[in-house]
Amino acid sequence: MELLNLHRIVDATLAEGPGLRCAVWTQGCSVRCPGCFNPQTWTTRGGTRMPWPEAAERVLRARDEHGVQGVTFLGGEPFDQPEPLGALAAAVRAEGLSVMTFTGHRVEELRVRPDCAALLASTDLLVDGPYLADKPEPSRPWVGSANQRFHFLTDRYDESVLDAPNRLELRIATDGSVDLNGFATTEALEALLAPVREGNNR
Ligand code: SF4
Repeated sequence: MELLNLHRIVDATLAEGPGLRCAVWTQGCSVRCPGCFNPQTWTTRGGTRMPWPEAAERVLRARDEHGVQGVTFLGGEPFDQPEPLGALAAAVRAEGLSVMTFTGHRVEELRVRPDCAALLASTDLLVDGPYLADKPEPSRPWVGSANQRFHFLTDRYDESVLDAPNRLELRIATDGSVDLNGFATTEALEALLAPVREGNNR
């Protein structure tokens, strides 16, 4: 069985797609958009190797413990490992969860790749296109640049989900480690961090 290579999993988040979701970041990205917010996910070295059934168990546990309505795959580049991710997507979807997938490729490129068929077939909401730093997204949630497109591949979701706000989530673990996810403009991030910087300068 081909193993997944994962960067991290957040069991329950409101910041990575419609409703409460389990978010799965893949490790490894061959797209490499200039200005990417997650360059630490580019290399295929590191990451956590995991058989997809183990990842499916984790996602289903997130449903049972936190009530997540679906899983979101983001990167890294999910379509760099489409086969094990497609199997994972089909397994959790068969259990009633929704699947949202981000990709730096355009869907037209993926549709001609046989290895991508299973993941596309099990994705309800696909967000496609590379991150373009010179085309910042002015209003839609979850995406960084205006060229990126939402494809509603099933009837699970529709355009109304795009009324959701962008969110940034900060988790501080008991060991003091800090974990951040979600999306915010540079201006909003600066506003958030300014009081912290001021405190450090006192
Ligand atoms: S596809 Fe995503 S992870 Fe890869 S470089 Fe572009 S923005 Fe970064």
